[in-house]
Amino acid sequence: MAMLKSPLAFLVLAFFLCFIMSTGDGTYDYFQFVQQWPPTTCGVRGKPCSKPRLLQNFTIHGLWPSNYSNPTMPSNCNGSKFEARKVYPQLRSDLKISWPDVESGNDTKFWEGEWNKHGTCSEQILNQMQYFERSHAMWTSYNITKILKNASIVPSAKQKWKYSDILSPIKTATGRTPLLRCRTDPALRNVQFLHEVVFCYGYNALKQIDCNRTAGCKNQVDIVFK
Ligand code: 5GP
Repeated sequence: MAMLKSPLAFLVLAFFLCFIMSTGDGTYDYFQFVQQWPPTTCGVRGKPCSKPRLLQNFTIHGLWPSNYSNPTMPSNCNGSKFEARKVYPQLRSDLKISWPDVESGNDTKFWEGEWNKHGTCSEQILNQMQYFERSHAMWTSYNITKILKNASIVPSAKQKWKYSDILSPIKTATGRTPLLRCRTDPALRNVQFLHEVVFCYGYNALKQIDCNRTAGCKNQVDIVFK
């Protein structure tokens, strides 16, 4: 205890504790499978994307092992670092369609960042190859773009929706409750932009489950689809 009387020792200890708390130990409860709408990813943000790909379909952002007590954790676990050679040619061409880097056009770097930050925390269940194969399979299992189009929810400059309007057709198609995530533009206070649709999966990433509505689009604000 006497050591903590030294301000330097205290600072070192505080830094060490912060470092431990900011990383993950690889325990998690469930997976969030996050798909993004590229026009919102690049069109509703502080600064422009360096190489935007404004695809008109939902693409993968990531597969995130998550805790119910804090869905942004764990992250950056001590697993194997990303190895590009493990993304074999067929998987690579699949991911180029389902999981493109829509911000800066560097797909491999995007996959690397997602694996290192999230995939490492569930390596005991999905190794790197399985992590990307399973994500691609999740993407192909339900086509959100088509589900919304069939419900006449399409990009529109004028139309606005309630959270439940968008939730309902996805819930009917999948039998499970997704989570909708939105972005806001400070210049447009009374609307929010649909940005991501989250599917939740159990610990083994096999069975889809209902998502808890924690963070997400606000209930009282109309949603627009860019
Ligand atoms: P996370 O790191 O937790 O997976 O997600 C947040 C980060 O992912 C943000 O920094 C966001 O900019 C980034 N992100 C989302 N979509 C893309 C993308 O298509 N390309 C790249 N490079 N980053 C993305």
